[in-house]
Amino acid sequence: MSRPARRRAGGGGRPVGHGPRIGDGQRLGGAQRIGADQRVGGQRVGGGEPVVGAIEIGGTKVMCAIGTGPGDLRAETRVATTAPDETLSRVATFFTEHAAREPVAAIGIASFGPLDLDERSATWGHITATPKPGWSHTDVAGALHRALGVPVAVDTDVNGAALGEHRWGAGRGIDPLVYVTIGTGIGGGGGINGRPMHGLVHPEMGHVRVPHDREADAFAGLCPFHGDCLEGLASGPAMRERWGAPVESLPADHPAWALQARYVALGLANIVCTLSPRRIVVGGGIAAQPALLPMVRAEMAALLAGYVQARVLLDDIDSYVVSAALGERAGVLGAMALALDALARAGRRRHGRRRRRARH
Ligand code: ZN
Repeated sequence: MSRPARRRAGGGGRPVGHGPRIGDGQRLGGAQRIGADQRVGGQRVGGGEPVVGAIEIGGTKVMCAIGTGPGDLRAETRVATTAPDETLSRVATFFTEHAAREPVAAIGIASFGPLDLDERSATWGHITATPKPGWSHTDVAGALHRALGVPVAVDTDVNGAALGEHRWGAGRGIDPLVYVTIGTGIGGGGGINGRPMHGLVHPEMGHVRVPHDREADAFAGLCPFHGDCLEGLASGPAMRERWGAPVESLPADHPAWALQARYVALGLANIVCTLSPRRIVVGGGIAAQPALLPMVRAEMAALLAGYVQARVLLDDIDSYVVSAALGERAGVLGAMALALDALARAGRRRHGRRRRRARH
């Protein structure tokens, strides 16, 4: 989940090419981006959303889909995440085979990270340095643009999921919205003013530090960078190692869940105080344990202690911390939302330019 990683000395040895991008970036030699006036492939259906491609790159699998939204998926596939070249070439094959029948207007990519999302950077759209073997410094956006010839939008898996939940799921119309996943890793992303949250890099909410009472919980934590950050203490692998049993085998009344709720609530309370989202959507395999979220809400209310004076927190926390609605498709639908949002922004920019030209 967008783990931070130290930049490998000497870089990755891959050629650094300018990727195509959807956005306001500077003109790029030869790369197609949405926002330029060139015609791009794809079609609109009945004047509605354009057909786009969506790719969620996860640690073990890549989910691909083509369509205009959750109610209109025209094709889907799943590819195992192996070496980058092999994986991305299988992904590209799925889209090129389908494109013969139905071209896509753009591709959205929601990927594990960390990613370079700075549109002015020469390595925009690259995975930077990741603990995942072989994937450091992979130019995912450039590789897929070169293979498919359409513009690409790229963001973190969790920013993508936040966008998907905002457009179609449990955070419809809520802004700012934060999405947190609690599973194999812990990560958080969000949308603010209709855009994914970016900054220095992108949020790394899974790696916030939380109080760790070593008398109550002697487990040292698993994060290779921090030990007992939130992900180090509360990811699925951390739970399994602490309790010596698979998470699925821990019954709802096992003390594991009260401790888990405490850590997750500490993480979410930090997010409330720092980002002030209007809602937090929680997804991921661990969050699927039905006993967890009610305990998290109660812990969070106790931790905030009435200080943040918002009615929804004080009186209606059930509608503040909510379960994700898009299930296992959250990531790939997030990638679809990334492509659609970027196309819509590009359309607005073109429209603005035409209006300005018309006035002169
Ligand atoms: Zn960490």
